[in-house]
Amino acid sequence: MTAQGEDILAWLDHAIREREDAARCVGWDSIQSSEYMWGTKYLTLYRPGESKNTVEMDSDLADHITLHDPESVLRRCAADRKLMTLHQPVVCGAFGCDCDRKCKTCDWTASQEFDRKPAWGQVDHHIFPCPTVRALAESYGWAAEQNPPIEGDRVT
Ligand SMILES: [Zn+2]
Ligand SMILES: [Zn+2]
Repeated sequence: MTAQGEDILAWLDHAIREREDAARCVGWDSIQSSEYMWGTKYLTLYRPGESKNTVEMDSDLADHITLHDPESVLRRCAADRKLMTLHQPVVCGAFGCDCDRKCKTCDWTASQEFDRKPAWGQVDHHIFPCPTVRALAESYGWAAEQNPPIEGDRVT
């Protein structure tokens, strides 16, 4: 069994890879839309040395597709992978803290997570995954409510 933080990172890596693979399989790099008739547009698909026009379609659908063309998706995936790299777990090692890991960029603790101060003499344990990783995972469909943060989460 792995701790929750590893699960969410592995899940996120898989979710990003699915989108990267799907974007590469399209076979066209960029997609732009042009007016056709009132309320309709057509798409122009581009790849090096070649372009092709599609049939007429709803204007809003055409705009949506152009905003999510393979280049845009791959750019977003690359940026999300940079965020993942910034928010990897590292050994905590904080004085008095017995959690195994914390985010290497954030210093997110239970007092921030649960909006309360630790009792006198108690350690303010780190929480991993940090809110950045969780929000990133949510954007790919991770069900946050089914995977609540665990105080003092550790590798088991
Ligand atoms: Zn973080
Ligand atoms: Zn810690």
